[in-house]
Amino acid sequence: MTADSCAHLAAIETVKPPKAHVCETCVKIGSQWVHLRTCQTCGVTLCCDSSANRHASKHAASSGHPVVASAEPGERWLYCFPDEAFAEY
Ligand SMILES: [Zn+2]
Ligand SMILES: [Zn+2]
Ligand SMILES: [Zn+2]
Repeated sequence: MTADSCAHLAAIETVKPPKAHVCETCVKIGSQWVHLRTCQTCGVTLCCDSSANRHASKHAASSGHPVVASAEPGERWLYCFPDEAFAEY
């Protein structure tokens, strides 16, 4: 899949960076995470699907915010949950 198949990814002009390198929801509940993703609609940083709580995925489903960026240092890619589309930037 490419960005060509996803209007959400195509609409992103400036990628939001993470405000902090933590999962905000995991911090609140005292849980841990594996990798971090930053919501490109509201800017919240949450944990990835490899993490026990999958907060980024749950956030996308409950809020309707489709696109996250990797918040891992050195990773420059976006992912759209509803379209399962990746794009590098
Ligand atoms: Zn999309
Ligand atoms: Zn989390
Ligand atoms: Zn969001």
